[in-house]
Amino acid sequence: MKFGTKAIHAGVEPDPSTGAIMTPVYQTSTYVQASPGDHKGYEYSRTHNPTRTALQNSLAALENGAYGLCFASGMAAIDTILKLLKPGDEVISTNDLYGGTYRIFTKVFAHYGIKFHFIPMDNAKEVEKYINSNTKLIWMETPTNPLLNIIDIKAIANLGKKHTVITVVDNTFATPYLQLPLDLGVDIVMHSVTKYLSGHSDVVMGAIILNDKEVAARLAFLQNACGAVPGPQDCFLVLRGIKTLHLRMERHCDNAAKIAQFLSEHPKVDKVYYPGLSTHPNHAIAQAQMKAFGGMLSFTLKGDKIEDAKRFLERVELFSLAESLGGVESLCGHPATMTHASIPKEEREKAGLKDSLVRLSVGVEDVEDLIEDLRSAIG
Ligand SMILES: *Cc1c(COP(=O)(O)O)cnc(C)c1O
Repeated sequence: MKFGTKAIHAGVEPDPSTGAIMTPVYQTSTYVQASPGDHKGYEYSRTHNPTRTALQNSLAALENGAYGLCFASGMAAIDTILKLLKPGDEVISTNDLYGGTYRIFTKVFAHYGIKFHFIPMDNAKEVEKYINSNTKLIWMETPTNPLLNIIDIKAIANLGKKHTVITVVDNTFATPYLQLPLDLGVDIVMHSVTKYLSGHSDVVMGAIILNDKEVAARLAFLQNACGAVPGPQDCFLVLRGIKTLHLRMERHCDNAAKIAQFLSEHPKVDKVYYPGLSTHPNHAIAQAQMKAFGGMLSFTLKGDKIEDAKRFLERVELFSLAESLGGVESLCGHPATMTHASIPKEEREKAGLKDSLVRLSVGVEDVEDLIEDLRSAIG
């Protein structure tokens, strides 16, 4: 099946008892057994729930993976992946990444004896220098947040294979519509389902998709043992959101490309960060591994003053100033004071995250209206 067909049909079947075309919300904590141990595959909803099962199967199909697991948030999914490690293990991570990921690495798992190296990942040879016998995980985010750098997924996946290190891609920004990390040789794909997969700013959820049976069994054990599972109502909402993922992503990408062009020609804009621009340093890799360039972009203002960024963010009317991304409505944010405030200023500067940097999550409105809003807010 092609992507759009999978988005609508994969993992879901009409309800056998009624024919209901939409997966019911199985709002139940437990399931009746005929005699002890004699059940229909469902015992308790932390372990399994039919609405969640449908969503997990749908996500696995979209990422071309064998197994899908859903969690109460993207952070709960990250937490579960890190619980594959033990004290003494080392992780290599890209240095430009979601602030919450940086926080759970440095403020939670570092306290359990796991060592993290944060490095740029544009050159696999440089990454290889950090691999030693304790290295167990390589964490990628591409496009990165908020600088929209692109990592060559295949090159890093090959490195992982060569040294038997698990490779992970946080695929939140791209979604499986734009790139398929498992097909490029990565071991684990992780999502903040909260963003594009849900797509309507009404759910917080996370997911993990992978092919390895043993690792999947361990992660399923952790999902049940630690218990950060989503409820059936949220699973239903995401199943609904996924049905239009391909349509939404096309419009997100078209709108973002036009806005990137508009901004790059604006006299008050200093730099535009968008992998679809031919001036982007990783444009060629983006073109090779992504179907299109996504709905996220960032830009800086000439002079790099925090007050100018603030004024812009106060003046926008269609773009809402808010955390998060990937919904149908356009959002804007200021990473240095919002999503990335948990990263110390000197770490931010090392990663090239400027004070005036504004991040846009371009929605699916009419692009002419969005451009007009940006034009008047920049002034
Ligand atoms: C939002 C986000 C997360 C965290 O997910 P939550 O659902 O908010 O817990 C992780 N990675 C990326 C890239 C994100 O944008």
